[in-house]
Amino acid sequence: MSNISELHVPCSAGQLLLQPLWDRLRTLESLTQSPFFPVIFSITVYVVFCLPFVVLDFLCPWVPALRRYKIQPNFLPTARQLLPCLAQTLYQHLVFVFPLTLVYWAGSPALLPAEPPELLQLVCHVVLCLLLFDAEFFVWHLLHHKVPWLYRTFHKMHHQNSPSFALATQYMSVWELFSLGFFDMMNVTVLQCHPLTILVFHVVNIWLSVEDHSGYDFPWSTHRLVPFGWYGGVAHHDLHHSQFNCNFAPYFTHWDRLLGTLRPTHAK
Ligand SMILES: [Zn+2]
Ligand SMILES: [Zn+2]
Repeated sequence: MSNISELHVPCSAGQLLLQPLWDRLRTLESLTQSPFFPVIFSITVYVVFCLPFVVLDFLCPWVPALRRYKIQPNFLPTARQLLPCLAQTLYQHLVFVFPLTLVYWAGSPALLPAEPPELLQLVCHVVLCLLLFDAEFFVWHLLHHKVPWLYRTFHKMHHQNSPSFALATQYMSVWELFSLGFFDMMNVTVLQCHPLTILVFHVVNIWLSVEDHSGYDFPWSTHRLVPFGWYGGVAHHDLHHSQFNCNFAPYFTHWDRLLGTLRPTHAK
């Protein structure tokens, strides 16, 4: 007699998609559960996302058509600007982020669940984490611009690179880096996200933050894909870096609209 009814067969399209991916990741458990994984993963994803923009900036003098997509067409970061930013990211991850992820690693469960999350749940959790992160950072950011001492002590460093470029994304004080990391981890913990969801959220969050600072406004940039002007993205954040007193939310536009700090961009 067939035993097929007892087999675990992924039934939904989402499961069909996620189960093989999750099974593959679980075979790499010794790597993903290593105490070094979070910090190596975070640096690698960040540098990989920054690299295409570094290459585009390098190509700009020879491919003038690229300048059409630059928000500030006459600005190109120099090696003297790029290298300190990269060095700062590596230094902060090794000296500050690594010890903290060690503590988190020690407290996290030793075994990964056998099943992936539902695709719909994964998408909802990632969007919810982004909305929460956006709200938390909006309050933090507004406060650090309105209180001069907070600005001078903790946030000014991030504004040293204006106009912005991809590798300047994580050029920030240790307090700012910890605050972002705290919001990040708090949301996935409160929502009890699946480890795969946490991984996806981190990748999406790193990508959106790099895109915000890239200085490039492409037809496929996130703010052009999200309807009704709900998403500000690179155009809005670039304006924040040049004008300081507007567009405090990193991603979405509703908080700035609500508090009257939204400044529209003149998208090409
Ligand atoms: Zn700012
Ligand atoms: Zn910024």
